[in-house]
Amino acid sequence: MTADSGDPRAFPHPSLPQPPLRLAFDAEALGSNWRAMDRLSKGARTGAAVKADAYGTGVDRAVPALIKAGCRDFFVAHWSEVPAVLAHAPAVSISVLLGPMTDADARYGLETGVRPVINSIEQARRWVDAGGGKCDLMVDTGMNRLGLRVGDISDPAIAALDIEVLMSHLACADEDAPLNAQQWQAFADVLPHVRHRSASLANSAGIALGDKYHFDLTRPGLALYGGIPRSELAEAVQQVVTPEAAIVQIRRVPAGETIGYGATFTAAHDMRVAILSLGYADGYLRCWSGLGAFTAQDGAVLPVLGRVSMDLTAVDITAAPHLQEGDWLRAEYSLADAAQASGLSQYELLTATGPRLRRG
Ligand SMILES: *Cc1c(COP(=O)(O)O)cnc(C)c1O
Repeated sequence: MTADSGDPRAFPHPSLPQPPLRLAFDAEALGSNWRAMDRLSKGARTGAAVKADAYGTGVDRAVPALIKAGCRDFFVAHWSEVPAVLAHAPAVSISVLLGPMTDADARYGLETGVRPVINSIEQARRWVDAGGGKCDLMVDTGMNRLGLRVGDISDPAIAALDIEVLMSHLACADEDAPLNAQQWQAFADVLPHVRHRSASLANSAGIALGDKYHFDLTRPGLALYGGIPRSELAEAVQQVVTPEAAIVQIRRVPAGETIGYGATFTAAHDMRVAILSLGYADGYLRCWSGLGAFTAQDGAVLPVLGRVSMDLTAVDITAAPHLQEGDWLRAEYSLADAAQASGLSQYELLTATGPRLRRG
């Protein structure tokens, strides 16, 4: 059976309706953010961290926008994230931060031409034993997360590598911490001892630490997607994604009745309430219960009432009598403000988006 004959399993089915929620995505803003990071990176090349489905914004729209802006270096965390990037970018432009954890990872890297980021002597041996070829190397300069210890850089297994990008990662670039200068120094000390073509240290916040942190290649993530890790970047960064949801039901709630799970909100007066098709399964988390707000097209601000549930959120539209079922509302979700209000990080807010929202 073909989709035309009405096979209900066909995906996407030709008459599958549009979902009543979406993650509004501003490709121009993403391109503009990349160009801003590129300008701030001065003489260094500018890459992009596109791990975790481009920080929850969707690789399929983020990577083409980044390529259009001029980006040629992409970083994912997992090998499983490679195919989605390969659909848009050539293999030589992709690096996998977790490196070859198994022989199968190494084979996949060799067959596709995607570079592993080597994080240990063991990974270096595994890569060379599998056939080797170009790779990147992560050196840990004080974060104690992933990466080769500085004391291990003279190991023969490292000397056997063909290293494209020699990198390290900053632990506190979003703060003015003494560790930044210590990591810079440790990285600078390593460079003459390990053969490599490009050196790379700065993430988004690291770009704002000053020219000497840029080396040959910067690796912004957060700032590309609208996050502001340091106030110096606030001017340069535009919002990229915003959750939006349609009103699926409008109800009158008489004074004295309650709304939602736990009956945490009681109407003090008769209210007009809109139920939105957006909930914590979509990444609109329960921390927005009684705290978040939505805006209508005319700018009216509509507070969230009671608890956010898995698929649904109630908002007060008493002051917006023109709103009707089917109208779309936009979450108040300026990332820096949302992080302040919720206590979550901008990274968590971005990557919390659920699959229904991302696909919408
Ligand atoms: C995630 C990541 C980045 C990007 O960091 P942001 O703070 O999002 O700019 C850069 N390098 C590495 C190794 C990463 O894991």
